[in-house]
Amino acid sequence: MSEINKRFGCMVFNDAVMAQRLPKPIYKALRKTISAGTHLELDVANVVANAMKDWAVERGVTHYTHWFQPMTGVTAEKHDSFITPDGNGSVIMEFSGKELVKGEPDASSLPSGGLRATFEARGYTAWDPTSYAFIKNNTLYIPTVFCSYGGEALDKKTPLLRSMEALDKQALRVLRLFGNQSVSRVITTVGAEQEYFLIDRALYEKRRDLINCGRTLFGARPPKGQELEDHYFGAIPARVKAFMRDLDEELWQLGVMAKTEHNETAPAQHELAPVFATTNIAADHNQLMMELMKSVAQKHDLACLLHEKPFAGMNGSGKHNNWSLTTDTGLNLLEPGETPFENAQFLLFLCAVIEAVDEYQPLLRISVASAGNDHRLGAHEAPPAIISMFLGDELSEILNAVEAGTMYIGKEQLQMEIGATVLPHFPKDTTDRNRTSPFAFTGNKFEFRSLGSTQSISGPNTTLNTIVAEILSRYADRLEQADDFKHALKTLIRETISQHKRIIFNGNNYSDEWVEEAERRGLYNLRTTPEALQEYLTPQHIALFEKHGVYTETELRARCAVRLSKYTKTIHIEALTMLDMLNKEIIPAVISYENELAKLMANKKAIGIEFSTQLESDLLQSISRLGATLSIQRAALSDALEQVEQISDPLARASAYYTKVFSAMTALRDTADQLESLVDKRFWTLPSYDEMLYSIQ
Ligand code: ADP
Ligand code: MG
Repeated sequence: MSEINKRFGCMVFNDAVMAQRLPKPIYKALRKTISAGTHLELDVANVVANAMKDWAVERGVTHYTHWFQPMTGVTAEKHDSFITPDGNGSVIMEFSGKELVKGEPDASSLPSGGLRATFEARGYTAWDPTSYAFIKNNTLYIPTVFCSYGGEALDKKTPLLRSMEALDKQALRVLRLFGNQSVSRVITTVGAEQEYFLIDRALYEKRRDLINCGRTLFGARPPKGQELEDHYFGAIPARVKAFMRDLDEELWQLGVMAKTEHNETAPAQHELAPVFATTNIAADHNQLMMELMKSVAQKHDLACLLHEKPFAGMNGSGKHNNWSLTTDTGLNLLEPGETPFENAQFLLFLCAVIEAVDEYQPLLRISVASAGNDHRLGAHEAPPAIISMFLGDELSEILNAVEAGTMYIGKEQLQMEIGATVLPHFPKDTTDRNRTSPFAFTGNKFEFRSLGSTQSISGPNTTLNTIVAEILSRYADRLEQADDFKHALKTLIRETISQHKRIIFNGNNYSDEWVEEAERRGLYNLRTTPEALQEYLTPQHIALFEKHGVYTETELRARCAVRLSKYTKTIHIEALTMLDMLNKEIIPAVISYENELAKLMANKKAIGIEFSTQLESDLLQSISRLGATLSIQRAALSDALEQVEQISDPLARASAYYTKVFSAMTALRDTADQLESLVDKRFWTLPSYDEMLYSIQ
């Protein structure tokens, strides 16, 4: 076994460890729970817990934690030790099945969106045996779901698991119609490519905005930005390389298959892509990846910025969510197959995704909406806020031919007859691959590109799974009733293409023409988070999530409330940080420099060299003029903050935060940035964009 092989997953209580350490019947029972979701008996749980504890203690572990994913979007944990008094004044290490399976963290301060009154504040955590336990920082981590006393999901993992079940159920119905009896489970898989920035830690610590908000609230554009495009895929600096090596090592030990690393478009920006995994595991792994990026960076005196837009004027960071459907027999349902029959099946699943994306555009948009991501979507660097799909020319032509029932004249000439024709193979990595599309077909998977870099991938995947499950359920309802399956299938596919092809767009999503064209096509353009969230709680959406058992109406309402409040709080904190930095750092810098200039002018005058104060007086005038504007804008921002706090309706308040507070912040920043370019560096205490972006060579 190679060294890497030995270390890979060495901190994970994975299948191999379970097979080795558990008695056969126990292992079998656990496997059944994992693969078929059956109930786990307490006596089985007891044995598993004990084996887990022994394995962990051998590795120096003294504590365990139920690890969960509340609606904050980050993970939460509460540590308990294994230590139990043995009755003779000494201690033993114990861990029972009950402790493994269920926990009661007093997590009443986590957001619940009104799902919990404080008198029943207790939330429960329950083991998710499909995601392996692992050791981090001498603690045994047990992945869990988190719900309220009444059983309502308070986290992001529960709905994700439910949505995976919904999709499994509906996809199986469709597969059965194609005569497929051997598949017993359909699983969604995800590979999430993570973008991030790395800057020198000492500079980071001098920026209150980065510390409080994750992004710079001030900062003049550097003379050199990303226009030379010399950073993208460029040589990786040694310090970054060392960071990446350490990060890989830690991730590998935790069983996360970190694979591809490269520089991204903006200076100091990088990307890490793992090998794809089952969706809930991919979600857990992405959380671990983000946590480790931060902690490993710190060890290297670096700061990892995961915010969607740390630097204005530079590309921001996103997360590409590569998503597909796989059967337990190893078949990728989004891969055009070898036979006409498999192709017909592929076309039906493809249609289901097309229809789902078209019909539920707002839900997909909502799933990626956040204050941070609003800086990217539509900013000509990331997909626009308009949801559309890229299929590539070849597949689009095939769909056109299917719709028209005509010949497809492509590389091969073929008669499109569903269920009778073999589709040509699509190159998986076509060079003309459209990088501007929010939702692109990439050969055997879809890449949802609108996700923000900080966000949990659970929400978008919960939505994606549910909307596709819904369309598949409609297809199954219809086809199950059909007398002539082949004919019904053909009609269904044709109808779907003609009704939903407006969502397909293979052109440049960054262009202004597309915005107009999309409007003509009747597509949504929900530019901001408040605009998007306004579309959340429609009767249609509530019915969708209830039908598939993903969210109850109460749970969905709670999510909307949490999202709105997070949006307003984010901007609120940014505005306060801005005022604070202004008062304590920027205004003092401006005044000191003005004072210096004024003193110099007076000195010059005193010694009688009056005419040579032109430079100082011009400069002083420019700065004073900007200073006066800044003063007015500072007052305007304070006023705006006071005004919006009076608004009690959460949606109206969120909208006002955008129209009033955010716009006041933008104006203020513009003036402050102009001042930065005029004021002597010795007075300006904030590290500049130049210093931060080129701090690591
Ligand atoms: P890129 O988008 O940078 O060209 P790739 O297409 O090779 O890179 O893969 C991007 C991501 O897609 C990787 O994380 C990869 O594991 C993932 N991926 C590949 N196949 C699948 C699949 N069937 N389901 C989900 N993710 C997949
Ligand atoms: Mg990609």
